[in-house]
Amino acid sequence: MDLSIWRRGRMITALAVVILLFGAMAASAEPLFAGDEAVPADAIVLFDGKDLSKFVTCDSNGPAKWKVLDGYCTPEGPDICTKQHFKDCQLHVEFWVPSMPDKKGQARGNSGVFFMGFIYEIQILDSYGLKPIDNDCGSIYSHTPPMVNACRPPETWQTYDIIFKAPRFDAAGKKIANARVTVLQNSVLIHNNKEIKAPTPDHSAAEPNDAGPIRLQNHGDAVRFRNIWVRPL
Ligand code: MG
Repeated sequence: MDLSIWRRGRMITALAVVILLFGAMAASAEPLFAGDEAVPADAIVLFDGKDLSKFVTCDSNGPAKWKVLDGYCTPEGPDICTKQHFKDCQLHVEFWVPSMPDKKGQARGNSGVFFMGFIYEIQILDSYGLKPIDNDCGSIYSHTPPMVNACRPPETWQTYDIIFKAPRFDAAGKKIANARVTVLQNSVLIHNNKEIKAPTPDHSAAEPNDAGPIRLQNHGDAVRFRNIWVRPL
C-alpha cells in the first residue's frame, strides 16, 4: 500500500474519533445557565429573600426566628442553621454590615458563616479599610487573615463565594486531612485552598466526620443576608 495513503487514512480516522468524542461531550453536558440568571441550575437555593423555610433555629431545631424584610433576613433570636446538612460544598452568600462608628473591633457588624455546624467560621465584620488581621472580615476566624482586605464599606451589599472541603478521617476515626477553604469576597480571592487545622475558637465540638448544617451567626448586630445558595460537591 502507498504509505502516504495509509498515513492519510490514519489521520482521517483519528480526526473522526476526536469529532465523535467532542460531539458526545457536547450532547451530555447540561447547561448550568439558560440565560442571565444568577443562580446555577444545580444549586440548592437556601434563601431567596422570601422565607426561611430551609433554615431552623440551631440547637433546638425549631422554626428559624430571624426577620425577613424586603428581600433580606436579619438576626432575631438564636443563630440559624440549614435543615440540610453538607460536607464539601460551594456556598454563595450576600451580606450587609451596619455602620457602627461608635463601636470598635469585634463590636462592629459582627456575624459569621459556619460550616459543619458550629465548627469552622468565616468571619463577618465591618473591617473596611483596615490592615487584615486574623479576626477581621474575611478571616478564618482567629486562624488566618484574608490575603487582602476586599471589604466594601458598611451598608453596602457584599458577597462571599466559599468552596469548603471537609476534613477526612480514616476507618479508625483518625483525621488524615485537614478541612480546606477557598474564599472569594466581592470576587477577590482572599483564601486559596487554605487548611483549617482545628475548629475556630469558642466552639468546643470535635471536628466532625458527618455532614453538618451551614450556620449564620447572631452576634447581636443588625447584619443582613440575602441570595444564599449552595452546591454540594
Ligand atoms: Mg463572628
